[in-house]
Amino acid sequence: MIMPKKILVVLGPAGSGKSTQIEFIKRDFGYKPLSMGDALREETKKKTRLSKEIQNYIVQGKLVPLELASDLMLGKIKKEMSSKLLLDGFPRELEQAVVFDYFLYSNDYQLVGVININVHKKECIKRLMLRKRKDDTETAITKRLEDYYTITKKVIERYKEKGKLMDINGNKPIEDVYKEIKRKLKKWKI
Ligand code: ADP
Repeated sequence: MIMPKKILVVLGPAGSGKSTQIEFIKRDFGYKPLSMGDALREETKKKTRLSKEIQNYIVQGKLVPLELASDLMLGKIKKEMSSKLLLDGFPRELEQAVVFDYFLYSNDYQLVGVININVHKKECIKRLMLRKRKDDTETAITKRLEDYYTITKKVIERYKEKGKLMDINGNKPIEDVYKEIKRKLKKWKI
C-alpha cells in the first residue's frame, strides 16, 4: 500500500518565531520545511518582470496574488521527494486554503494539522524591530500583522472547524513554546 505524503502547516503572525520552531520540528520529527516567504524572496533574485512585481508586494508587506502564491507553493510541494513536509506561511488566506485543500485531496496528501503560534501584537513588533530583515519596515510590519489578524484568521477558523488546528501560546521562552508543540505533536501521532 502506498502511504500518503504527510503535510504539516505552521502559521503565526510575523515575528511569532515560526522559523525557530520549524527548525526544532524538523530536527525531532523529520519534516522538511518549505517556506513561502523564502520561495518568494528567491524569486525576486531572478530579475524578471515577475520578480519585480513580487518585490513590490513584499516591500509593502502585502500578500502576493492568489495564483502566483499557489502556483509557486504547490509547484514546490509537487517537486519534493520527502514524504513529510512542513509548510511555513502557506495557506495564508482563505482562497489559498481552498486551492490547497483541493490539491491535497486530488494528489493524495494527508494534512496532519495546522500549528498556529499565537503571540501578542506588541511582542511581535518588538521582535521584528530586532530582526532587521529588509522588509521589516514599519509600514510592511503593520500591514503583515493586520492581514494576519483579519485574513489569515479565516484560514485558522477553517482548520479549527475541520478539527485540524493546534493552537500554541507563543508568548513564552523559545524552549517552552517548543515543549508545548512537541507534547501536542506527539499526541497527534505524526
Ligand atoms: P513573515 O512571516 O515575517 O510575515 P514571510 O517571510 O512569511 O514573513 O513573508 C514575507 C512576505 O512574502 C509577505 O509580506 C508577503 O508579501 C509574501 N508572502 C508570504 N507568504 C505568502 C502567501 N501565502 N501568500 C501571498 N504572499 C505571501
